[in-house]
Amino acid sequence: MLATVIHAAKDLRLEDRPDPQQPGPDQVLLAFGAGGICGSDLSYFNKGRVGDFTVREPLCLGHEFSGSVLEVGSGVTDLKVGDRVAVNPNHPCRVCRACVAGKGHLCYKMQFFGSAAIFPHVQGVFRERLVVERKQCYRVSKLLDFRIAAMAEPLAVALHAINRAGSLVGKDVLITGGGPIGCLVLLAARHAGAKSITVTEVSEKAIARMQVLPADEIVNSLQETTRVESWYAGKGHFDLSFECSGNPAALASAIRATASGGKVVVVGMVGMPEVPLPVNPFVAREVDLIGSFRFDAEFGQAVDVLARGAIDVQPVMTHSFPMKAAQEAFMVASDRDQSLKVHLVA
Ligand SMILES: [Zn+2]
Ligand SMILES: [Zn+2]
Repeated sequence: MLATVIHAAKDLRLEDRPDPQQPGPDQVLLAFGAGGICGSDLSYFNKGRVGDFTVREPLCLGHEFSGSVLEVGSGVTDLKVGDRVAVNPNHPCRVCRACVAGKGHLCYKMQFFGSAAIFPHVQGVFRERLVVERKQCYRVSKLLDFRIAAMAEPLAVALHAINRAGSLVGKDVLITGGGPIGCLVLLAARHAGAKSITVTEVSEKAIARMQVLPADEIVNSLQETTRVESWYAGKGHFDLSFECSGNPAALASAIRATASGGKVVVVGMVGMPEVPLPVNPFVAREVDLIGSFRFDAEFGQAVDVLARGAIDVQPVMTHSFPMKAAQEAFMVASDRDQSLKVHLVA
């Protein structure tokens, strides 16, 4: 079977790998339907690492995935051949301190697809055949586009960030960064009842593309500095801010722009291990700084929202390529001027 494998920065190869073994009793064998290229896949592709996790052996990339059932294990009674599923890449151990505390997504021994966090690495989903646990599969309608089903994972990231923030009803919200996650947080924030949503972005092309999304205001934070500084004045402006750019300067700006008693949710990794922060504004205003990492129960919520069409994620999906064109897909996905979510398809 064909697999999309990273060996080092910029060294992405299409490889012929042996087909997986038969599924165990509680497992299913899936055929690849669609896979979304995530920021972490791009970081492995461009830098050979994500944060502190460096590629130390060939790593099949990908964790955003939908497919169809080819074979079910002997103990699987509620899925059948031909069913279409979205796959939750979280595979927690269920016994460690985080799992026992009900936070499976923070599992100390997480087996997350396409990740170099542990060694040997956990191989990813950008391959033609994959065996997964039954528990990781969420059945969707056969009419739901594989690419939309694969959006369950990044949408779950956005829904988790919203849940970390608490109620958004009636709140003025800032989102820094208009990439796929920033756009999905925007859609999820609107869905959650935010009063106003402002997005900051630095790419004019990204801003033009975002005009179809339900933001109240999109600000070019490099050019419209007077507008941005107006949020810093007095006691800050926004009730809630979501940092979705990975840029330390945007995080500092979000802290300054958040009003007294507000919250800043940092969604995913910032591009550097340590960053200077404007400490006094957030101390004096009692702004809560909240980390948000992946998702837990929100995966099921995301599948449900997509199945019902309650959030239309299609404006965030810009390109699809067959797996054979993975190199080109990764190049396009790396260019923020050109693309939002890029999918590999069967
Ligand atoms: Zn992802
Ligand atoms: Zn665990």
